[in-house]
Amino acid sequence: MEKAVAERGFAFKIHRKFYTSPFPNSMADIDNRYSDNVAGAFFVDDQCIDCDLCRETAPANFTRNDDGGYSFVYKQPENDEERELCEQAMEGCPVEAIGSGGEG
Ligand code: SF4
Repeated sequence: MEKAVAERGFAFKIHRKFYTSPFPNSMADIDNRYSDNVAGAFFVDDQCIDCDLCRETAPANFTRNDDGGYSFVYKQPENDEERELCEQAMEGCPVEAIGSGGEG
């Protein structure tokens, strides 16, 4: 499982390197975050393409809105391990839809 996630993360890193975003300066934008996100540092904005990487990387913090087909933060990290996994998810997100500048 961990190996599969690591390989997937690597694949996304490669993908991200060559990915041409339709949003040239596509940093996660707190003004465009989904309202499902719980208040706090991490959030997902409306650029999410529902690739599943964050949910696999940090399942204690990210989940899916099945109707909308996107991820959101349902629980902010409560310890160093969760925080680290959220940061990994943020770094691995192929479209930079995860931000960490929220309040809290
Ligand atoms: S890694 Fe990014 S694009 Fe993929 S599901 Fe999570 S927020 Fe969406």
